[in-house]
Amino acid sequence: MAIWNLGSINADFVYAVPHMPGPGETLAATGREIFLGGKGTNMSVAAARAAAVVHHIGAVGDDGEWAVDRLMEYGVDTRFIARVDEDTAQAVIAVDANGENMIILFPGANDAIPQAILQEAMAEAETGDWLLIQNETNLQRTAATLGKKMGLKVAYAAAPFDADRVKAVLPHLDLLVLNRVEADQLEFATGERPEALGVRDVIVTLGADGADWFGPEGKRHFDAIPVTPVDTTGAGDTFTGYVLAGLDRGQPMAQAINLAMRAAALMVTRHGTADVIPDLKDLEGFRP
Ligand code: ATP
Repeated sequence: MAIWNLGSINADFVYAVPHMPGPGETLAATGREIFLGGKGTNMSVAAARAAAVVHHIGAVGDDGEWAVDRLMEYGVDTRFIARVDEDTAQAVIAVDANGENMIILFPGANDAIPQAILQEAMAEAETGDWLLIQNETNLQRTAATLGKKMGLKVAYAAAPFDADRVKAVLPHLDLLVLNRVEADQLEFATGERPEALGVRDVIVTLGADGADWFGPEGKRHFDAIPVTPVDTTGAGDTFTGYVLAGLDRGQPMAQAINLAMRAAALMVTRHGTADVIPDLKDLEGFRP
């Protein structure tokens, strides 16, 4: 089977700063690194590292060929990444001496994915494949409707949280993944606990406290694997990509979650995002 991931592709510009600049302040960065990022990209890479067949659906501008090349190197099918007349999305991230960060997101091409590329991708998808979506593109609602109609299973990582966007796709979902903050926001927006929303499987990730799975047989808690975290960026994306890869291989949910826990735990011991997501071989040697 396969995973079709409609998702963002970002260039992450990470600036080290002595402190966060205030209004009107000009501040020299002490360093800069450029990473491949975006929730969609991270999830595609995670699922590919977990040995799934992953097709990424998205868009970049003229300045985004390097990102497409990188995704391809990581084993992701990039045939459904459109080249559009917008700049590739950027995240400008300032990290201060205490590790606090501040992020400015320029959505660019992520908000200009042509419907035609989604349709081309869906024409190749097969009943029973997974469609994965997040909240960083212009097409997730169209994709969820189309995917469901075509007999795909639809998974949604509700981040970054937006109540209207979440409510619009809820009726089409088989799996909903939220972190603790998003679960609270969803309850506030709908008046219902996420597990009461009629989605078959809901996973709420709880950072160092692990995750709760609300499935047809009720709630089951999974403890996180104890590690000393150095950078938690991308933990949730790694977790979701691995869960989907496991489900796509036909694993029961609990087994998919257990492996995803290991991948996410190893991920938080590493600096960086898409480029450092662990693969199955890394996990074999991981003895926390
Ligand atoms: P992010 O936005 O940083 O990618 P998130 O808020 O979406 O993450 P979290 O709930 O923080 O998601 O983490 C996802 C999963 O990663 C958790 O369910 C857990 O398995 C693992 N994880 C996160 N933090 C830790 C930690 N400190 N120690 C061990 N595992 C962790």
